[in-house]
Amino acid sequence: KVRVRFAPSPTGGLHLGGVRTALFNYLFAKKHKGTFVLRVEDTDQTRFVAGAEEYIASCLAWCGIHPDESPQVGGEFAPYRQSERKPTYKQYADQLIADGFAYYAFDTPEELDAKRKEIPNFLYGLSSRMSMRNSLTLSEQEVDILLKNNTPHVVRIKMPADEQVSFIDMIRGLVTFETNLVDDKVLLKADGMPTYHLAVVADDKAMEISHIFRGEEWLPSAPVHILLWKYLGWEDEMPNWAHLPLILKPDGNGKLSKRDGDRLGFPVYAQNWTDPKTGDTTKGFKELGFMPEAFVNLLAMLGWNDGTDQELFTMAELIEKFSVERISKAGAKFDFEKAKWYNHEWIKQTDAAGLLDIVKQEFAAKEIILTDDNFALKVIGLIKDRCNLLTDFVAQSEYFFNAPASYDLPAVQSKWTAEKATFFTAYILMLEDGLTALELEDKFKVLAAEHSLKPGELMLPFRIMLVGGKFGPGVFDIAVTLGAENTKSRIIAALT
Ligand code: GLU
Repeated sequence: KVRVRFAPSPTGGLHLGGVRTALFNYLFAKKHKGTFVLRVEDTDQTRFVAGAEEYIASCLAWCGIHPDESPQVGGEFAPYRQSERKPTYKQYADQLIADGFAYYAFDTPEELDAKRKEIPNFLYGLSSRMSMRNSLTLSEQEVDILLKNNTPHVVRIKMPADEQVSFIDMIRGLVTFETNLVDDKVLLKADGMPTYHLAVVADDKAMEISHIFRGEEWLPSAPVHILLWKYLGWEDEMPNWAHLPLILKPDGNGKLSKRDGDRLGFPVYAQNWTDPKTGDTTKGFKELGFMPEAFVNLLAMLGWNDGTDQELFTMAELIEKFSVERISKAGAKFDFEKAKWYNHEWIKQTDAAGLLDIVKQEFAAKEIILTDDNFALKVIGLIKDRCNLLTDFVAQSEYFFNAPASYDLPAVQSKWTAEKATFFTAYILMLEDGLTALELEDKFKVLAAEHSLKPGELMLPFRIMLVGGKFGPGVFDIAVTLGAENTKSRIIAALT
């Protein structure tokens, strides 16, 4: 039975890497007819950020990633917030202590700070344990007294000496760690809250998680987790791990961060994220005008491909074709130009009807209400291939709904003549609904010849009259879409 989980900590916005982790878990679960769990890892109260959980849920929903079990939808392993599971963790810490795999540590923050100052790269582990104040150095009696007096303490894992911890990563193959180099991680904090390490293992076990896809940054934690699975007697139920490749800056030099996005002008969050402390908003893919389908598609390609040249995939195809074997070990470069290319392709391959609602929303955001769906559909069909982002629709087609408020006069003024004005006055009379773009063009050319004018010199002024600027699809297509009445009135408005 395949059960996977996406286990974000609600500490801020959801970065590209986070959504990709969610997506790979989701694809794997759906491919294997399994269950996708969303678990909120909020045990670190100092890093908790209000609103982050709702934000994460809404980002996943926007992407079309719908958890089968989550704090919102519930499920048989509820609760799905670690803070609400607090009472379940202590028993495991106690068990580990009783079995000699963990110990109490009474060091004060000052003592730890002093040690860190004294020893560069101080590790609370094998080499330093004996110089610290913990239950491995104190007598049983001393420990009893300290505990009875409610002396603040944490519980640490006791990393074994001179051992190797190995596991088979689904992407990397055999990975081995030397226990001497891993510190005695805190498992239970002074406030009784578990740390991530204890909570993640306890909950993956409790929720019967079978496979774990998570970012490469968690690889160093793997030996701690594996030992905990063993020490708690759950070795046989240990899940399979896969550590996903890093997402790199566009030039491949190091890990992509929010700062790179800010500096290079692209979002790294799925949706706009407003930091509740500073009030600063960081742009998201959604608000920038990405289609969720395109966003999911480009995320999937960050570290995965199907072995062919195919680059465009629907969610259904991704689910069908996803395979762990085709996830790369090497970091995946994030290229914003390529991201826009995905969106452009998605806009192209989506028919006008499929874009109608989202385009109406874009216009509504600019306080332009599109009331005539049939007209909007024609316009969308005509201009969609010119749009990279959904936000381009307003700029690319606003003139269809509102006559130009101003004209790009410098583009035509110097070459304007009275003969041209006469031409357009005559052309108005030829306009009628039902003509095709080709027919309109024919009439335009014949009339130009009668006026001894070159059609090429009349086309730009015509465009400026209808559009206001030097852009848009074929000018006769625009005229047909606008209809005879509108085209006429725009010509007249421009001439007067
Ligand atoms: N809570 C961790 C995070 O924020 C989860 C890591 C894991 O998947 O084990 O990414």
